[in-house]
This record gives sequence, C-alpha cells and structure tokens, in this order.
Amino acid sequence: MSVSQNSSLLVELGRLNQNLLELPCPSCGKRDPSFIWRRDRYFLEVNLSACRGCGVVYLARGLSGEAQTRFYSHIYPRLMRQPPPEDALCHYRLIAGYRYSEINAVVGECSSVLDVGSGLGFFLDACRAHGCEQYAGIEPGGPQREHAVHTLGLGEAIQDGYLDQTTQLPFKPKLVTLFHVLEHLDEPGKALGWIAKLIAPDGWLVIEVPDILANWPKLGLWQIHISHRSYFCMETLEALLQKNGFKVQHSCREAYGIYEGNLRVYARLSEQCVSEHSVAQHALISTKAHIKKQIRPWSLRNGYPRAAVRLLRLALKRH
Ligand SMILES: [Zn+2]
Repeated sequence: MSVSQNSSLLVELGRLNQNLLELPCPSCGKRDPSFIWRRDRYFLEVNLSACRGCGVVYLARGLSGEAQTRFYSHIYPRLMRQPPPEDALCHYRLIAGYRYSEINAVVGECSSVLDVGSGLGFFLDACRAHGCEQYAGIEPGGPQREHAVHTLGLGEAIQDGYLDQTTQLPFKPKLVTLFHVLEHLDEPGKALGWIAKLIAPDGWLVIEVPDILANWPKLGLWQIHISHRSYFCMETLEALLQKNGFKVQHSCREAYGIYEGNLRVYARLSEQCVSEHSVAQHALISTKAHIKKQIRPWSLRNGYPRAAVRLLRLALKRH
C-alpha cells in the first residue's frame, strides 16, 4: 500500500471539510444558529449550534448533495466498522432483547412492526421470535442489511434504502420504531409525516435518540460528529412530533446502557397538530452551557488527543 493510499482518509476528510455547507435547522428550517462548538470528533468544522427559533441543537455546517453521498459511500464505512466484529455482535442482540421487553411493557404485544433503520436486524429478529408475524425493515447500509437478510434470515422483509414518500408496505404496522435514526435525518419532520401515513391508526411510534440534556461525560467530544444532524431533548422532540401529527404518551430516560443519555419516547397519532414552538432565551443559554460542560475537549479518554490518535490509526489501516 502506498503512502498516498495510507493517508487518503485524512485527505478525504480535509476535502470534505472544505465542502461543508451552511445548513438550516432540521426541525424548523430557520437559519438562525446560536454557536456552541466548532469542530467534531473528526476535526470537521461542523459549527454545533442551537436554533434560536425552535431550540433544537444541530450542525449549522454539514453535508449535502454529492459530498454527502461520497461521505456515506467512501468515508463513513472506514470511520465506523460495520458489521461489528463477531465478538461484539452479542451486545447488539442483548440490546434488541432489552428494547423488545421495555417496549412490550408499554405497548403490549405487537402483531406487526416496521423498524426504520433496521441495522443488523436484531430487533426484528426479537419481534419474530416473540411471535410477531408481519415485520419489515428499511436499511441503507450494505453490510448491516446483509447481516439482517442472510445471517438472521429476514430476507425480503428488509428493504434497501431510505424511508421516503414512495415507501410502501404490505401491511399497516401497529408498531414503528426508529432507534438512533431520527438525529441522522436532514428532514426529520418529513420522515414523521411519512410514518403517519404508513402506521396503523391505533399504532405506536417508538423513537430513541441521544438526549442532549442528559449527562454524557463519558461520551464527551464523541457525541459530536458529522452524521448527527440534530440533537434532541424531550422538549424539542415532543414539539417535532406534535408538529407532524403525533402526541407523546410516555417517555423514558436511561442514563446508561444503550447509550449514555438515551431518550425513548412512545407516541400515537393525534388529530391536533401544533404548528409553532419557540424557545425561551434562558433555555437556550442553559442548553449551550450544559453542552459545553459535557464536551471536555482535552480529556485523554474522549477528547481531541484520542480523536487524533484514532484517526491516524484508521488512516494507516489496510482496507
Ligand atoms: Zn429550529
């Protein structure tokens, strides 16, 4: 392997940094960011900000169009090892079993489920094992889909690609799940609108996201990365759901386990759409202060020094 190939990851990231664009708030569409933090864990200048309109924390600079496509096809697989090594897979299975049991305790048995961003397929596998007869997943990641389709035998139940207005299902799911997916979407509100059309009228929507207002000192800088477009908390997620036809029925904050600061909300369709949500100035200031306190940039465990070492290792790795 030549030196130029070895360093190409860093060159790619440098080029990517120059191609980042100013982006609107994914939740309300406004371009009124209140700056919090400049560089993510890959040293990209993402300008983490809080929206002065709706309060959502988001990346005010980020990926779009061709740069985004190239990032997910060429760079992301090198930054994130997928599928994970064999010995780590049992961790994913355990999480799926735990999620199934937690969700089952709130919504009861579900005869049909759609998992958006179904990843390795373990959650659908758990549903199937508990007697769910109709199940479907949507997953754009090749290695993850391969695992779900072939290793777990979920076959044609897994669709390739992204949820959009053309997505069709052979059934109306009683349960729709998005586990750590919503924060990656450019337009999360539109996705919720499409789900509102797909879900059974009495169905449950269960969403998990990182809770930006939780404590996440062990994540630190690791929390901030280019593929996270939005960082929700209970209030901003509830507002987005209300704006797109859902009403939160139940929620759960978990300090540890699935993610350091995991927020799970359970929502159902609602007749009442609440169109406007504005954030109070003091809430914005306290959110920004909270995030700055969590990041700890010079920590040897999860700050920039470790991020630099990890990047260099990845850049030198044969692939
Ligand atoms: Zn906003």
